[in-house]
Amino acid sequence: QSLLKENGNKKKNIVILGSGWGAISFLHKLDTTQYNVTIVSPRNYFLFTPLLPSVPTSTVGSNSICDPVRTIARQTPGEVIYYEAAATDVDPVNQTVKIVHKNMNFAHGEAFVNKDDPIEKTLNYDYLIYAVGAKVNTFGIPGIPEYASFLKEAQDATAVRQKLFNAIEASRLLPEDSEERKRLLTFVVCGGGPTGVELAAEVKDYIDQDLLKFIPGIDKEMKVVLVEALPNVLNMFHPKLIEYTKEVFKTQHVDLRTNTMVKKVDARNVYASAKKPDGTTEEVVIPYGTLVWAGGNAQRELTRSLADKITEQKTARRGLLVNEYMKLDGDDHIYALGDCTFTANAPTAQVAHQQGEFLADHFNKLAKIDDLEYLTSLEKDEASKEKHLKRLERYKNSIKPFSYRHQGALAYVGSERAVADLTWGSWSTVALGGNLTFFFWRTAYVSMILGVRSKLLVISDWIKVSMFGRDCSKD
Ligand code: FAD
Ligand code: NAD
Repeated sequence: QSLLKENGNKKKNIVILGSGWGAISFLHKLDTTQYNVTIVSPRNYFLFTPLLPSVPTSTVGSNSICDPVRTIARQTPGEVIYYEAAATDVDPVNQTVKIVHKNMNFAHGEAFVNKDDPIEKTLNYDYLIYAVGAKVNTFGIPGIPEYASFLKEAQDATAVRQKLFNAIEASRLLPEDSEERKRLLTFVVCGGGPTGVELAAEVKDYIDQDLLKFIPGIDKEMKVVLVEALPNVLNMFHPKLIEYTKEVFKTQHVDLRTNTMVKKVDARNVYASAKKPDGTTEEVVIPYGTLVWAGGNAQRELTRSLADKITEQKTARRGLLVNEYMKLDGDDHIYALGDCTFTANAPTAQVAHQQGEFLADHFNKLAKIDDLEYLTSLEKDEASKEKHLKRLERYKNSIKPFSYRHQGALAYVGSERAVADLTWGSWSTVALGGNLTFFFWRTAYVSMILGVRSKLLVISDWIKVSMFGRDCSKD
């Protein structure tokens, strides 16, 4: 990377942390010829999370929804350096970030360092684009880290599939009326947000549409249970769609346990407290063979430690506080976006994607402004100076704050049905549910996939499944 641009102005260093929706949307749109760009992430690919719930059942292959960072970086006009590493410390005063190489040994969405032989490096930044996302919130509930799988990373999806098949295969050795066999054949998902609902729906489809061909009778024996603390699942959706989802789950025999708060988990059971219609509660025990925890987001330790270093971030409990240009409150060189921030918008891919694109456009304009200021400072001729100043004024005026355009929310609820809360402009919301919505859901998701390669792979996965069904290998 060169220190100077063609016009002789100094190139500023941008360090991007993360390779998710926020970071990659930013990189994709950034004019990388204008900056020295370094991207740091322990995950060397972008993951298209909306289709992750389809991976444990192999409706979609995990490779189909992963795009290598290096491929994305190569498609930008300038040079981009990628480090497979995790940031371990951000120093906002000296504008440095310490990174350590992390090999791809993920567990529960966290990458591990080789502690015996850590390889570390310190990077200087003029601007830090902080997009490290969030981790799964376990609320300190005992047993979840040890016994439950998550659905956050591609590796989580593989782990869920393996546990599901281990439990099914083990159950085959037991008599049909054994309690242990029933336990092994119970797939429990805790958390009725969109992640939990979509996973429960996909697993139930898998059992009823494909597994029963390989293991006759499994559809009668196997149970899918969805546990949710609140009275409803999919709470951010229109009430009509919540009712529709409940109906679909009822006809599909997904055992929906709302008003049921998980308190503890051990190797075989989920212990919960269920609120009854009369307002009293009862303790319930739900035996499981496979357990997935989908309880929502919590901030990463790195984000907490960054917030602790900046006075204006002291109240940032649920995420970093940013202004309308995504600049961190209390710091002039760090911009944060996506799930690691706390804003008026929900922590979704749609939000992180729009923020990433906005920020890239913002930085493209900042580069032009910086160049014009530099050229103006060198200019001797008054008429040319005047011209530069006019252009400078135009660029400065073109800088606008971020404004989110909500396009709606979609979720798959099983049996080739989806729900959609769509927004057109600021005045019209349409709540749709059913088979047509399912086709809309598929079309919308394909159009959201960033790379052509992934689009083709996902479409071919769907065609393969419709022709031959999903397979039953364990991976
Ligand atoms: P992420 O996409 O999570 O990216 C964070 C990145 O930071 C990762 O690359 C990670 O490896 C990296 N990182 C972590 N720690 C460090 C570190 N210390 N240093 C450097 N890098 C680090 N939203 C929707 O709008 N629609 C959907 O249909 C939808 N479906 C979803 C399905 C599932 C199963 C899940 C889990 C989420 C879904 N979401 C959906 C939410 C969406 O995925 C998130 O809101 C989005 O990923 C947030 O983007 P982000 O860039 O903030 O974080
Ligand atoms: P979430 O926060 O939306 O849902 C978590 C659910 O877990 C909540 O309903 C909560 O009440 C429940 N819960 C928490 N503690 C519990 C306990 N002890 N016992 C029982 N239930 C408990 O989390 P998510 O579904 O992972 O979604 C995270 C973010 O990603 C959200 O913003 C969501 O909108 C987005 N997302 C969107 C889609 C989509 O649009 N299709 C899909 C997945 C995720």
